[in-house]
Amino acid sequence: MSNSPEITQLVDRFGRTVDYLRISITDRCDFRCVYCMSEEMTFLPRAQILTLEEINYIARAFAELGVKKIRITGGEPLVRRGVLDLLENIGKIESLNELVLSTNGSKLVEMAEALKNTGVKRINISLDTLDAAKFKQITRTGVLATVLKGIVAAKQAGFERIKINAVILKNRNHLEVCDLVQFAIDNAIDISFIEEMPLGVINSHDRAEVYYSSDSIKSDLKQKFQLNSIEEQTGGPSVYFKVAGTVTRVGFISPHSANFCSTCNRVRLTVEGRLLLCLGNEHSVDLKKVIRASPGNMEKLKQTIIEAMNIKPEKHEFDLKEQPVILRHMSATGG
Ligand code: SAM
Ligand code: SF4
Repeated sequence: MSNSPEITQLVDRFGRTVDYLRISITDRCDFRCVYCMSEEMTFLPRAQILTLEEINYIARAFAELGVKKIRITGGEPLVRRGVLDLLENIGKIESLNELVLSTNGSKLVEMAEALKNTGVKRINISLDTLDAAKFKQITRTGVLATVLKGIVAAKQAGFERIKINAVILKNRNHLEVCDLVQFAIDNAIDISFIEEMPLGVINSHDRAEVYYSSDSIKSDLKQKFQLNSIEEQTGGPSVYFKVAGTVTRVGFISPHSANFCSTCNRVRLTVEGRLLLCLGNEHSVDLKKVIRASPGNMEKLKQTIIEAMNIKPEKHEFDLKEQPVILRHMSATGG
């Protein structure tokens, strides 16, 4: 039993309740998407990253502090050995409402069914283009057909409300936004468009030059689809619309054009065990140090997490013209 039972919720200095944790379980990936990684990446040595047991332990601490939703991400979470056991263990935490996963889809053909059996409720699959050559350009190593088959496998496994995430870059894939929405409609799934964020040093493009705003995407879509506003919130940063006459919802994640910080309910656990209080700032607390210095001391871990809420910044500091503002890549961060 907890010695601090009066605290069942994490609340920061600005009155925001934190009930959503995103965990990066690996910085490794079988893709090298141009907005996420450099072509040559140096990955972290094993001793520096959390073990699966440590991740599970920290997830439990957060659940005891009122976190209701956990997203497992990376890097590519499905390339980490033991990921299914980890998901099964986290899925058993009773107080959690939702265990969800982000993936690039490359391993879904083999893993979708086993994933469904772990207790994962929903999955997000990245898909930026429907053109095989462009897919190769953007992901550098990915194969479009494999991911498309993965999406089919996820549907067959019975996942509900599958969502595609598409990062839109001007003159790379911005002309495809209507086709991507049509793909979502044809497959009865959802889609979110993401504005690129300046995380980590990349070498393929100038981020300010390829910026394509959510408003531009919306006006492109309105040429072909009727988008109706909806109230429904998923607990994430997306603002959603329903495509009239379909089951598909279209979301916009707009860190530059529509700041979402005032309703931020989330924190991130990096692959190295740092609790990151904001994606667009460096404020963090080293939870790995705490659990390795005092193994099994759940109270100490929970107290550290509670105190960390005091340094959660009010808002992110992204600026496309001043690069790189944040040196860590999305893959290590838990995007
Ligand atoms: N590998 C998995 C995937 O691709 O879905 C999970 C990790 S990935 C870092 C999570 C999401 O972050 C993906 O939808 C990806 O497109 C997005 N992402 C990566 N780098 C980004 C950046 N610099 N700006 C905006 N979104 C980014
Ligand atoms: Fe890998 Fe996902 Fe980053 Fe692409 S966005 S390189 S798939 S972690």
